[in-house]
Amino acid sequence: MSNDCIFCRIGSGDINTALVAESGRAVAFRDISPQAPLHVLVIPRDHIDSLASAEDESLLGEMLGMAARIARDEGYSASGYRVVINTGADGGQSVPHLHLHLLAGRHLSWPPG
Ligand code: 5GP
Ligand code: ZN
Repeated sequence: MSNDCIFCRIGSGDINTALVAESGRAVAFRDISPQAPLHVLVIPRDHIDSLASAEDESLLGEMLGMAARIARDEGYSASGYRVVINTGADGGQSVPHLHLHLLAGRHLSWPPG
């Protein structure tokens, strides 16, 4: 864990944040600046810079499965939702700790800007 990393501090409980879901290796919490009625971030507890440096595919599967479960539990399986992992500068990643966005509750346009 890095004390300089905001998501490490959320994942470790150092910063008290209401969790939407958690597992041994991942936690989910609401985005501070929601872009849709449901906007949840799923992160690994351990620090990984981005998807580009993520090597543990079972952890990635755990995060994706957690997102799908949250979407189902919040009632968005039928209406649909989007899962996004912004990666690196061109991908628009602003927090350098791997995170998956789960967005739901409004129609999301495509292609992204
Ligand atoms: P990115 O642009 O890296 O894909 O997404 C980072 C996301 O983290 C943004 O949607 C931003 O609103 C969210 N975020 C940044 N700092 C915090 C924080 O301290 N708490 C929470 N809950 N979300 C944060
Ligand atoms: Zn971190």
